[in-house]
Amino acid sequence: MSDMGTIETHSSTDRKATQCPVCGTGTLQGKFSHVVLGQHNADYCECAECGSLIVPEVDWLADAYASERVDPDTGAAQRSIICSLFIRAMRCVGLAPKGGRVLDFGAGNGLLVRLLRDQGFDAWGVDKHASMAVARNWRLESMDREEAGQASMITAIEVFEHLADPHAVLQSMVSALVAEGMVLLRTTLYDGSRHDENWYYLELSGGQHITLFSRKGVRKLAERCGLRATFLPFGFHLLRPASCTPIGSLRRGCLFLLSGLFFSFARVIGLCDCSRSSIDKTLVTGA
Ligand SMILES: [Zn+2]
Repeated sequence: MSDMGTIETHSSTDRKATQCPVCGTGTLQGKFSHVVLGQHNADYCECAECGSLIVPEVDWLADAYASERVDPDTGAAQRSIICSLFIRAMRCVGLAPKGGRVLDFGAGNGLLVRLLRDQGFDAWGVDKHASMAVARNWRLESMDREEAGQASMITAIEVFEHLADPHAVLQSMVSALVAEGMVLLRTTLYDGSRHDENWYYLELSGGQHITLFSRKGVRKLAERCGLRATFLPFGFHLLRPASCTPIGSLRRGCLFLLSGLFFSFARVIGLCDCSRSSIDKTLVTGA
């Protein structure tokens, strides 16, 4: 369970944290401030323990997720393609389960679920805030075991940076996994020595990125839930039970080569051209 002594939850989405919600113990030191969504003051603080970048006080998420707002996530389709190809490569090198259920947490429009099902995975999605329009027959209301069964793998792609209480969410994922199940995350990592108030991943126009993980933060959060973090190529992070055999550099290298090959093919035939979504994002947000 989350340490509610350090995270005061006002609603299902907002927070007021006095300590780092990632590692659970670090004090938060102010770095810079911004106005998000054009009207909300956001103070960005760095954790003295794990180095993650946190917005401790957030009270605008209802505004940030309001349906009438422009959706700034123009990269959703190509990201789903990239993720499905990466998981395909993981399976080829023996890192993803051959069978069992896959749950996509924060499934959005459901495209990743659809693509994984087309590859033969028993994939389902969970998203409280989205209808999963392209995979609505495989939408679950929650990760509760009675409804979702037990998953071999849970994916959370560009989700954890949105969470007010990532520890509580990861703990609920662990409860939904089989004994040697795994969690695959994709979130861009914060590095205090390289990133500042101009970092693109702050996503000021959207106001939804409130928990920016450092590498150490991912490790610490995993450890709090009995998991070990392995950093995979192309910004993916794999969390597996600490008792699992570590993933060797040879297998990581094979994964890098194979997934890189898949991405190259997809790019050649026009399935993932990141520059186009960036242009669209500029158009819709005026950034
Ligand atoms: Zn921390």
